Amino acid sequence: MKRVIFTILILTTIALFQTSNHSSALVTATLWHYEVTATEGGKELFVEVTLPPKIHPELSVYSSAEPYLKGAEILSEKGWQPLRQQGLSWFLPASAKIRGCRIRYHYQLAQAAQAISNIEIARQAGDLIYAPPSTWLLFPIYKGTPQKVTFHVKTPPGTTFVSGVFPLSSSQSDTYEINSSSLYELSYSAFGKMRLHTINLQGGKIDLAIAQSNYTISDDQIIKWVTKAGKSIATYYDGFPIHRVLVLVRVTGGRRIGYGSALGNSGAAVSISVGVNARQSDFDDDWVLTHELAHIAFPSVPRGKHAWLEEGMATYIEPISRMRTGELSPEKVWGDMLDQMPQGQPEYGDKGLDYTPSWGRTYWGGALFCLVADVEIRQKTKNRYGLEHAFRGIVAAGGTMNNDWDVIRTLSEGDKTIGVSVLIPLYNKMKATPVEIDLDGLWKRLGVEQRGNRIVFNDNASQAEIRRAITYGDK
Ligand SMILES: [Zn+2]
Repeated sequence: MKRVIFTILILTTIALFQTSNHSSALVTATLWHYEVTATEGGKELFVEVTLPPKIHPELSVYSSAEPYLKGAEILSEKGWQPLRQQGLSWFLPASAKIRGCRIRYHYQLAQAAQAISNIEIARQAGDLIYAPPSTWLLFPIYKGTPQKVTFHVKTPPGTTFVSGVFPLSSSQSDTYEINSSSLYELSYSAFGKMRLHTINLQGGKIDLAIAQSNYTISDDQIIKWVTKAGKSIATYYDGFPIHRVLVLVRVTGGRRIGYGSALGNSGAAVSISVGVNARQSDFDDDWVLTHELAHIAFPSVPRGKHAWLEEGMATYIEPISRMRTGELSPEKVWGDMLDQMPQGQPEYGDKGLDYTPSWGRTYWGGALFCLVADVEIRQKTKNRYGLEHAFRGIVAAGGTMNNDWDVIRTLSEGDKTIGVSVLIPLYNKMKATPVEIDLDGLWKRLGVEQRGNRIVFNDNASQAEIRRAITYGDK
């Protein structure tokens, strides 16, 4: 999972290239690089781009972010000339296809953030501007062969830039590496005043960025909360599943911790809002961050059809991970499953998991798929393996949030790891047909009983060993 870092040498070439005069700058560019200089707070960005040959000539930025890109120019024999713009696209001349080119422009990020106000595109909150690089890096609108792309961001003193996109290396943490096929939708990023911390876990690290604000609680308390969530996921996966994730703590009013989301593509980031008056007890009760971190341990599958798989795995793993670190009791976790799993059953008119994108089927239908798979894997392997081993295999093969995989590749990798076919056959059974799971029978076999408002475990039940293995894991 560690990336090979041979592009450092190449960057030196870019540096030379940029200091050269016009005529020598017209030699063939072989690299794809963005040099970004931000003004205070990231309000405006000045971007210089070198594009290699054979790039598709139609360029643009993320949809609705186009009006804030200004003054695009291309370097020609006659010096800098306006780059042809038509509608919401910019067009390279034919010569660029043969020898590459240099272009430059500026991007009015503060204006975009105020007008668009969406964290997935551009949004201003307090002193911070949130905007993934796909909003402000001009890119070819047709994907073409995947290539390595780098961007470097320079900020003035007092302004920090953070990105979920993976840095090129720890020594070049302000240069980032992208696969050109994900340029159209990159991981969360932000400019402004924030405090940075690094949390090292076995197998990877969390870079934590806390928006500047007057929180009631200290950074230490926030760090402890993030560490706890990271450790739950590391316990389930027997090591933190990705070498680096950015956790972006956004400030909101009140006490609530909570709206969280995760965004991959050439990196991994979680954005989560924390109320300015949040107290320790709010952090103790939070489950959202563990859920979001579970997302990083799974490839990005096409969400239109398979959001249930991404959401279901996170919904299933979150409480089990927290149970295995002792944060939640087995009674609480199994009791919640008893209460909540029925929401994942098909309702009248259901067309199967791939074709019924309702809330219940997405979160709990997906979680139910995971529970059934977990029990079946343990049954077929005589409890040697569980769902976590299949998921660990997917991660080990590179199936993490930064990569796009299809569902078949993802589930096949899981089955391959455990040596039995469970995930693919179960997917084939449930993808396009409403399958009702006999939950009462399942709880009975696992030995989970509700008595009044208490949960009682029956260790004499036929699959009690499976329930114990799901509860305690390998250890
Ligand atoms: Zn989720």
